[in-house]
Amino acid sequence: MKIRLIPALLAVMLAILSVFARAPQSRRPQNRPPNIVIIFADDLGYADIGSYGATEYVTPNLDRMAAEGMRMTDFYAAQAVCSASRAALLTGCYPNRIGIRGALDHKSSYGLNRDEMTFAELVKQRGYATAMFGKWHLGHHPQFLPTRHGFDEYYGLPYSNDMWPRHPLNPNYYPDLPLIENERTIRLDPDQTQLTTRYTERSIAFIKKNKDRPFLLYLAHSMPHVPLFVSDKFKGKTKRGLFGDVIEEIDWSVGQVLDALKQHNLDEQTLVIFTSDNGPWLSYGDHAGSAKPLREGKGTAFDGGVREPFIARWPGRIPAGAVSHAPAMTIDIMPTIARLTGARLPKNRIIDGRDIWYLLTSRRGVKEPHEALYFYWGAELHAVRSGKWKLHLPHKYRSIESPGADGKPGRDGVGTIGLSLFDLENDMGETTDVSDKNPQVVRRLMTFVERARDDLGDDLTKRAGKNIRPAERME
Ligand code: MG
Repeated sequence: MKIRLIPALLAVMLAILSVFARAPQSRRPQNRPPNIVIIFADDLGYADIGSYGATEYVTPNLDRMAAEGMRMTDFYAAQAVCSASRAALLTGCYPNRIGIRGALDHKSSYGLNRDEMTFAELVKQRGYATAMFGKWHLGHHPQFLPTRHGFDEYYGLPYSNDMWPRHPLNPNYYPDLPLIENERTIRLDPDQTQLTTRYTERSIAFIKKNKDRPFLLYLAHSMPHVPLFVSDKFKGKTKRGLFGDVIEEIDWSVGQVLDALKQHNLDEQTLVIFTSDNGPWLSYGDHAGSAKPLREGKGTAFDGGVREPFIARWPGRIPAGAVSHAPAMTIDIMPTIARLTGARLPKNRIIDGRDIWYLLTSRRGVKEPHEALYFYWGAELHAVRSGKWKLHLPHKYRSIESPGADGKPGRDGVGTIGLSLFDLENDMGETTDVSDKNPQVVRRLMTFVERARDDLGDDLTKRAGKNIRPAERME
């Protein structure tokens, strides 16, 4: 019996082997970790791309990316201003945890601490090629530049593109704006009409050069932060004016990156994420974007300041056309990259973000990654969100008295809000305070507030955080 079975078993095994031999070989080994591409816009509002409500111009590439991947409707930047927001994206920590607040400039004598781990340093554990093209804004001195934080290559502006002698309000304050390659200034006051194009060309060249090994690309556009500039390819194309032209050029850039991935057969091995650092700078009127129907914009803890479009695409892994309403934040990107690449997060310190891969791969609502999300302005704790509820603590905020036009800012006023509870599911514009009707919700959210004050501090209540780490200062 046994003797007769052996030839039969051998025949079955041979048949199985022959099927595998005929199966098309996958182009690359399955154990290769995925490429990561993060495209980060500057001052892009919630309603500034097609799939989030823009109507006066078109964003076909971002729309395609959303149709082929997932859109999150309740995704947040960690703080409504450039440097703080970027610190969170790069490290997975609240900016207050690591001492980066507000927006750095040419006089800042501090930057991202070398002891913090960026997502570039994270994937270096796994031998990734890494590059950053665009706006850095975490310290402009050589010791703070991207090349000192895990990026093999860097090309871009060290801070905002309005920090130059052509600033509309402070022309004598800023020196010439440096364009930096790795650690060397290669031009002063570069032609800003070419920034989006140059960042894109560098990105495409980087993808091509590293197509046979895992890579991480961080493309941080300087636009649509003012002053707005666009190349001739897009000048005068939209009825929204210069702002619309600029967004269409960013959309073109996204299309170029997606095309390069396809051309090199990397589509199914690459996670691409698109989001922005903070909401629209409304003081600039027609040169600012829109966060409608959200309240306020950049510089505030209202959703217009911090809620952003978020699109993630990875064909075959992220379901096409999926939409998630779970509240998440840029701090979650770093832990998610750690999971996908098999790299290890630092264990000896607090990392605030959560791995949200399970959200990106599910079609339906699943458990929210955070019990609460915190919204600071500088060192002041202004609001907390838990589930559909957002509680504002009493604070003053930037409001627009009269918007500017044609690249000139208008006048900012000061708004005041008392303790207010908003139901974002039914009132995403944060218009109606329902704290009186929901005292138990207010009490629950106040426990999170107390936890954050203790942990991260709060200038409004004169609390020092127990678990904060310093930025790095110049000697
Ligand atoms: Mg910004």
